[in-house]
Amino acid sequence: MNSSAVDDLFAELEMSYATGNIYYQTISAVLEAAQLVGISHREQLILAQPKNELMVHFPVRMDNGSYQLFKGYRVQHNNVAGPYKGGIRYHEDVYLDDIKSLAVLMTMKCALMRLPFGGAKGGLKLNPREVSQDELMRITRRFTAALGANIGPDYDIPAPDMGSNAQIMAWMADTYINFAEINNKVEARSVVTGKPLAFGGSAGREKATGQGVVDVLEVLTPGMGLTLSTCSYSVIGYGNVGSWTARLLSAKGAKLRAVLDHRGAIFHAKGLDAEALAIHVRETGSVVDFKGAKVISEEEFYACEVDMLIPAALEQMIHEGNASLINCKVLVEAANAPVTPEGEELLVARGVTILPAILCNAGGVTVSYFEWKQNRQSEQWDEETVDRRLKRIMTDAAHRVQQVAEKYECSLRIASYASAVEHLKEIYELRGIFP
Ligand code: GLU
Repeated sequence: MNSSAVDDLFAELEMSYATGNIYYQTISAVLEAAQLVGISHREQLILAQPKNELMVHFPVRMDNGSYQLFKGYRVQHNNVAGPYKGGIRYHEDVYLDDIKSLAVLMTMKCALMRLPFGGAKGGLKLNPREVSQDELMRITRRFTAALGANIGPDYDIPAPDMGSNAQIMAWMADTYINFAEINNKVEARSVVTGKPLAFGGSAGREKATGQGVVDVLEVLTPGMGLTLSTCSYSVIGYGNVGSWTARLLSAKGAKLRAVLDHRGAIFHAKGLDAEALAIHVRETGSVVDFKGAKVISEEEFYACEVDMLIPAALEQMIHEGNASLINCKVLVEAANAPVTPEGEELLVARGVTILPAILCNAGGVTVSYFEWKQNRQSEQWDEETVDRRLKRIMTDAAHRVQQVAEKYECSLRIASYASAVEHLKEIYELRGIFP
C-alpha cells in the first residue's frame, strides 16, 4: 500500500501521525501486506487502530514513607482470533505509541504462528533497577489491581517483556487470584504466562524466545549460504532474549564476535564465551568489563564484520544514522521493530536479508501458549516436549513465510504480515459481523 492510501485510511479514522512515529511505521507495513492479501476496507479500518487503549495512574507507598504516582498502559489491539495476549514492559521510556505499535505486532505474531490469541501490550513507566524488591512488588500489585477486569484468563493474558520477569508475573497472578471468585482460583493463575516453574510456569519458557530464534535460523540460513556451526554473529542487548539466543547459537558452534548494550560494546576476534558472559551480566548488569574482551565504540560494533547481526534490545535501534555502517549478511530481528523503514531501505540496498521480528521472536509467546494450555489442563510438560512442540510451530511458520514471500514476490517482513493477515481475513469472513 502506498503511503497516501495509508494516509487516506487514517484520515477516515481522523488519526494523524508524523512519518517517524513508530505506530505509523508499523501499521503502514501491516496495511501494505493487508492490501497484497486483498482484505476488505472494513477489515483494514479495524486493523488500523487498537480496540482498546487503557492508561492508568496509581499511587504507591515507597520504602521511605513517601507516595509516588505511576503510569501504566495496556493496549488491546485485536481479539478476533482469541483472547488478547502480550507482554508488559517495565521501562522508564514507555509511551502510548510504542505500546500501540507493539500491540499490533502481537496480533500479527500470534496470527502468523496460528495461536488462538489476539494481540495486546502493556507498559509501566518505571526503571525497575531504581526501586527495591518490596517497592517493585507493591507497584506490580497496584498496577494489577488498576487493570482490574481488563485482564483475565479468557480475555487478556499478560506476560513478561523487557524489564519484567517471572517474579513480577507471580505477583500479578497472586494479586489477580485474590480478586477471583472463590471457586475459580486455580484457573485464575492462567491470567498471566511466564510465571516461575513452581507456580504454574512452563519448562523452557525462560529460554523460549532465544530457542525460537535458533529454530527459525535452522530453517532459513541454509538457503542463505550460512552454516550455523561455523558462522559468526554479533548481538545488541544481552538480557533474556540476547543472552539465550547467544548461548544456544554458541552451543551449535557459531562464533559470538561482539555485543553492544546500554553501557558499551565488547569484541573478541576468536569469539566471546556466551555462557560466561551471561553470568557476568547477571552479576554486574552489563557486558562491559568482561574479562579478556576488547572494549570497542558503538561505531566499531556496527562496522564489525559478521554473518549475522542480532538486535535483541529496544525498538528503532537501527536507523538511517547507523544502518550504512553495518557489515552483515543477515539481520535477525530478535527484538520487536528494531529497524526503522529508512534503516531497512539502506540495509536492503546493500544486500542484507532481514528476518522479521514477528517470526524470529515468536518463541516466547508460543511457549506462553503452552503454559496457558498446561494451566488449564492441570498438566506439566517436560522441557523436551516443550522444545519439540516449539520447534514444530517455529519451523512451520518459517516455511509459511518463505512460501508467502514467493507467492507475492515480497520481502520476508511483508510476507510475515501477509501470512498473518491471510489468517485473520479467513476468521473475519467466517465470523461475519454481529448481529
Ligand atoms: N513479550 C513477549 C513478546 O513480545 C512475549 C509475549 C507473551 O508471551 O505473551 O512476544
